[in-house]
Amino acid sequence: MNPAERIAEALQSRRNVLLLNHVSPDGDCLGSTLALAHALWGRGQRATVGSSDGVPVMYRFLPGSDRVAGEIPAGETFDAVVFMECSSPDRAGALAARAAGVPLWVNIDHHLSNTGFGHLVLLDVNAGAVAEVAYPVVRTLHPSIDRDIATCLLTALLTDTGSFHYASVTPQSFLLAADLIRAGASPTAVYAEVYENRSAASLRLLGAALSGLAFAEGGRVAWTTVTQAMLRETGATMEESEGIVGTLRSIRGVQAALLFKEEAEGIRVSLRAQGGIRANVIAETFGGGGHAAAAGFTVRASLDEAVRRALGAVRQELAAAAHAHPGDAT
Ligand code: AMP
Ligand code: MN
Repeated sequence: MNPAERIAEALQSRRNVLLLNHVSPDGDCLGSTLALAHALWGRGQRATVGSSDGVPVMYRFLPGSDRVAGEIPAGETFDAVVFMECSSPDRAGALAARAAGVPLWVNIDHHLSNTGFGHLVLLDVNAGAVAEVAYPVVRTLHPSIDRDIATCLLTALLTDTGSFHYASVTPQSFLLAADLIRAGASPTAVYAEVYENRSAASLRLLGAALSGLAFAEGGRVAWTTVTQAMLRETGATMEESEGIVGTLRSIRGVQAALLFKEEAEGIRVSLRAQGGIRANVIAETFGGGGHAAAAGFTVRASLDEAVRRALGAVRQELAAAAHAHPGDAT
């Protein structure tokens, strides 16, 4: 029995399964937890999808998203918990506390920074999306992949692979997409829901962020900020800042792009990298994590101080990369 089958076997006899998303959930995480929930629901099992930060508006088209719980009644008990895309349990946010005392912890992820916690671990750091990791579990539990499951998984795959163009994309990503489209998922509909359904306010926010665009390290680093004042002025929400950092990385010559987001708990930094720069290594120095190409962390300091410290860490990683691959230095 392979690890995915072992997880499916362990889940199929449970009375009530808790499926946890990470904080600031993205399409990959939500799509994968919902696909697993549909598989359990389809078998007649009880399962609750928990998301400490709720469901961003752009993902509310996902079948089952109306059943995602931001809070769980105190009396409800679970006999298994699945942490989806959580490199450590605390990534699940406030709802992580509900895993205490649950007898089975399952950890499904594709992040390099995953600590390997839990009783059953399914980790593939080479997967383009956690959907690819979760799919064999879903399929073993519920062999007939219906349109709802397929739509959830295709959304996960599409969003986490940058619509199939990131370096993390493998033949496996396309094979999964083929299965999902055959099962009834529509790439046209999913793309339109996620990327062509934007509010005017989110574009005003993009404009404001781009007008504050700054460069460092001779143009190899691009950064900007989204402050609470900018949200008030544009009418956008912080979740609508998703995508801005990718726009910065698309600038010619940029190896590292940073977006500094002013949030209640501190400055949340979204980091994107390429050309031998390891975003996860930078993020880990601040207690965050992620992948080589995309990572995040929080700095509990003023915006100016967070920018200063983060740019310092990026400078060190640029130097380390130049040292490791002298030929790449420009
Ligand atoms: P974001 O910039 O929030 O879109 O995150 C980029 C990637 O890094 C995603 O794969 C996140 O799951 C991951 N990530 C962000 N923040 C953290 C953190 N504090 N710890 C571990 N992984 C993170
Ligand atoms: Mn992912």
